[in-house]
Amino acid sequence: MKNRKLVMIPGPTPGVESIHTQMGREVCSFKDPDFIEDFKGLLHDLKIFIRTQGECFVVAGTGTLAMEMAIANTSKVGDNILIISHGYFGDRFTELCERKKLYCDVLSCPWGETVPLEKIEAKLNEKNYAAVTVTHVDTSTGVAADIDGIGKLLKSYEDTLFIVDGVCATAGERTLMDEMNIDVLLTGSQKAFGVSPGLAIVWASSNALKRRKSLGTIPEYYADFENWLPIMNDPSKYFGTPPIHLIWALKESVQIIFEEGVDKRYDRHLKDARHIQNALENKGFTILADASHRAVTLTNVMYPDGIDDALFRTTLAEEGIVVAGGLGNYAGKLFRLGHMGNIDQHTISSVLAAIDRTLARIQSHI
Ligand code: PMP
Repeated sequence: MKNRKLVMIPGPTPGVESIHTQMGREVCSFKDPDFIEDFKGLLHDLKIFIRTQGECFVVAGTGTLAMEMAIANTSKVGDNILIISHGYFGDRFTELCERKKLYCDVLSCPWGETVPLEKIEAKLNEKNYAAVTVTHVDTSTGVAADIDGIGKLLKSYEDTLFIVDGVCATAGERTLMDEMNIDVLLTGSQKAFGVSPGLAIVWASSNALKRRKSLGTIPEYYADFENWLPIMNDPSKYFGTPPIHLIWALKESVQIIFEEGVDKRYDRHLKDARHIQNALENKGFTILADASHRAVTLTNVMYPDGIDDALFRTTLAEEGIVVAGGLGNYAGKLFRLGHMGNIDQHTISSVLAAIDRTLARIQSHI
């Protein structure tokens, strides 16, 4: 019999049966009153979950669309944007903003570290920024940004909106949107929500919605908050066909979160992450992210000398666990292990045991 492979990449993450069941249901009309109620309930619950008085948008698309929505609805040609980049996905904001003819200032740091708050404050004092972007967890480095600290700092800069890419964080890393002064928070369904890829989820504060209104007509059509707001306020209306199964699946995911308890979920992610990270260090690996700001959703694991990336990951896959390779300059030097969403203790034990078997097999050939 062929072994099942556990997909432990940083998204999509392993599913659970009740979410699969939702994905396998018979389709219904998006005008079906039961579906409309489900969608309404989901949007309501997502706002409670992330603790915001603002709006929530759930549309067909991926995390990158959600990034585009965040920028499109908060800035206009010629605006200044401050990009705090901790890696590959931080840099994606620069590409996106430059296409839109925004003036970008980028604060970056060596991969594995974070940009200090003092540097951000100094930059904010140089000019007026329409928005600051930061990636909560940059998947390329496994670093978690100090969202709370940056949010507090931005309280003194009223005209600057705070945009947080939570694609590899939200629903795993503690995120209290209003309390953390976040104006736009975005994610995708495939990471810590544990749903299949295909949904862009964006929360917007009242200040972000005000900014959108102040922009008038924007060039983007599908990404325009104004086109989606009527639907998010009343899902019986139509703008684009809702991805019915994904909406059901996300609703189930949020129910799972509420059943577990939001705080307990965050605590579990923290406890599991530290357990995994310590276990990996004890096996001779090093972790790219500085110990003071390691993510709880994934770990970027540097190989000890003499271990070949391709051989390690192929052998690990034969042992039943699929992990991802490094990005950018870290390709070949590390593997990325996702540990977010609805994974249980059996999964964690299986992963660590499979890594032991892999190391033993590789080392027996050295
Ligand atoms: N931001 C971060 C932090 C990500 O990890 C990713 C995807 N890995 C994205 C944005 C882009 O998301 P998507 O692939 O769903 O477009």
